[in-house]
Amino acid sequence: MGAKIISGTEFRKEILDEISTEVNYIKEKHGVVPGLVTILVGENPASVSYVSLKIKTANEIGFKEVQENRPEDISEEDLLALIDKYNRDDTIHGILVQLPLPKHIDEKRVIYAIDPDKDVDGFHPVNVGRLMIGGSEVKFPPCTPAGIQEMIVRAGIKTEGAEVVVVGRSNIVGKPIANMLLQKSPGANATVTVVHTRTRDMAAHCKRADILIVAAGVPGLVKPEWIKPGACVIDVGVNRVGEKISEKTGKKVPILKGDVDFDAAKEIAGAITPVPGGVGPMTITMLMRNTLRSLKFKLGIA
Ligand code: NAP
Repeated sequence: MGAKIISGTEFRKEILDEISTEVNYIKEKHGVVPGLVTILVGENPASVSYVSLKIKTANEIGFKEVQENRPEDISEEDLLALIDKYNRDDTIHGILVQLPLPKHIDEKRVIYAIDPDKDVDGFHPVNVGRLMIGGSEVKFPPCTPAGIQEMIVRAGIKTEGAEVVVVGRSNIVGKPIANMLLQKSPGANATVTVVHTRTRDMAAHCKRADILIVAAGVPGLVKPEWIKPGACVIDVGVNRVGEKISEKTGKKVPILKGDVDFDAAKEIAGAITPVPGGVGPMTITMLMRNTLRSLKFKLGIA
């Protein structure tokens, strides 16, 4: 029997409906809506496409959305000044600077310049620390790990006492999701192992995972025989492995593959996320949820 497919596209719709309902309620009761500014530097096609989707989503659910596009050669000082402007703007609750930034700009300086109480990406060290402490300290869980946890919970996968193996230890996926799932809280309480390029026997670790989360960026890295029968497999990887012509638009679009061989893995796993349509749609959804959270913190109703 094939695995249950955990669809990020379906959860996305469900969660955005919930957010939209809350936005309407807050608007009526408090006369405000969540405000998000998206700052895009340059014209990197992937960044342009991510930002457009963020803007579209924010508009659909009734947020105030401010778009700030700046040329590739903007100076670091001018970018910091722009961030400062929105740090002081009371109608803006979330500041999103699309990464990566051009080489002449120090990304760290930019992230550190965002007010931690408007850092809806959850990348500022203050929010990384809050996440590490856990519980009520957490303000903005980073979007991709938050999306992963939300999918696991909504799919009814039990995390308490589960063996979780995370492949990859990046600051944006591997480390935070490992930290979130080991917290003493609902939707967590797991026993977590993190594996990476210096791990001695990756297969052996993966094979005992009840929940296997793969975020390496290597297509087909996890072999079907590494998956424990019935396990939940969350494939975070997004790898461009070629191009095809879209049936809808007639334009060239990338062919995307995950880090797991989906067709083979779905015959062994109990539940699995597809690529595309799995973790991807959840990331922007969690950005919206963090922006709403930011407003709720401000209103004292979080
Ligand atoms: P990253 O910063 O490149 O980190 C990759 C991690 O995987 C590193 O810790 C690396 O180990 C480990 N790794 C790489 N090759 C490995 C191998 N052969 N064996 C074991 N470990 C290996 O990547 P990232 O930013 O976390 O992203 C990972 C993937 O997720 C990418 O495909 C990315 O596009 C995707 N992603 C998707 C979303 C989404 O919204 N769907 C969001 C973020 C990322 P070392 O530390 O030892 O080098």
